[in-house]
Amino acid sequence: MIKTDVVIVGAGPCGLFQVFELGLLGLKSHVVDSIRQPGGQCTELYPDKPIYDIPGIPVCTGEELTDNLMKQIEPFDCELHLNEEVTVVRKDGDASFFVETSEGTQFDAKAVVIAGGVGSFQPRHLRLPGIDNFEAKNLHYRVQNPAQFAGKKLIILGGGDSALDWVLELSNVASHITLVHRRDEYRAVDASVAKMRKLVADGKVDAIESAKATAAEMKDGAITALAIQPKDGEPVAVAADDVLVFFGLAPKLGPIAEWGLDINRKTINVDVEKFETSTPGIYAVGDINFYPGKKKLILCGFHEAALAAFAIKQQIEPDKKVRLQYTTTSPLMHERLGVDD
Ligand code: FAD
Repeated sequence: MIKTDVVIVGAGPCGLFQVFELGLLGLKSHVVDSIRQPGGQCTELYPDKPIYDIPGIPVCTGEELTDNLMKQIEPFDCELHLNEEVTVVRKDGDASFFVETSEGTQFDAKAVVIAGGVGSFQPRHLRLPGIDNFEAKNLHYRVQNPAQFAGKKLIILGGGDSALDWVLELSNVASHITLVHRRDEYRAVDASVAKMRKLVADGKVDAIESAKATAAEMKDGAITALAIQPKDGEPVAVAADDVLVFFGLAPKLGPIAEWGLDINRKTINVDVEKFETSTPGIYAVGDINFYPGKKKLILCGFHEAALAAFAIKQQIEPDKKVRLQYTTTSPLMHERLGVDD
């Protein structure tokens, strides 16, 4: 059980800036995110696109903003728990919360900040005609242990970075890989596409382009082959020991909806003084919250994070007045930031 002042749900820009604002006030936080990198929508949906409305930064990409936020929170020694979804948030006595993740990590926190954006990013599932949520025991949406595919015949579906990264990496361990992509152009970076084409030329990988899976042959709950339908022509049956699907990620509100909060159309109602939810001690900042006049902009989420931090400090130390101090001139701020006076 990890004891901490605050658990932050979501490592998007607002969750990361929340770490900073709490750190300035001397509070320690842990951040949990269900995806494998920090940055939320900025890195998941538009890493290379320019953002023009971050105050004081005329232009930066989603990835640059995330890198800078990560640099900004370095002094606070915050631990990021990536690839873990927060599944449970429960009041535990008067002054603390029990928080648990999909990987079994448990926290005892004095406050919780939900910075869950548009929800937790989940892999888009393979759908076959007539089956919405197709399941099989050898169907995978993420790779946790590449060694499990040693000597196996694999089908990899998808044409983005994840699909191609895994084609390249697993080509070293699998006995054979068939890559199936619904277009003839790939969304992955050019260097990965070039390496994949070289593996095809060397006969290590088959690539079936402009095609999709339309049916599965099954035995004992596992896929034995997929029918692959090219845009033109007859379907072909491709045998497989395992099937890996990388169709990108889509956000889902997910477990947040089950924490007993006042939910308003996939957002959480908060007040505009503390950004506190209907449960005292649980706050919500960024795209996930709602109040009259709410705008889903990063700069609005930053403001919310600053005010939520002051409210949390006051909640944790109710008998002390929380003083506003400038980072420019305050020796205490300098000490917390680790800069010399
Ligand atoms: P998000 O960035 O959505 O991050 C939330 C994180 O929480 C996600 O990583 C998610 O996986 C995680 N999460 C959710 N639930 C859980 C859970 N239960 N457990 C663990 N993790 C969880 N805004 C601007 O201000 N300027 C722009 O120019 C701009 N351009 C944009 C362009 C595009 C194409 C898009 C899609 C958005 C743009 N935005 C822009 C909006 C901006 O990206 C969002 O306002 C911002 O990302 C919100 O930040 P956030 O931290 O609140 O949430």
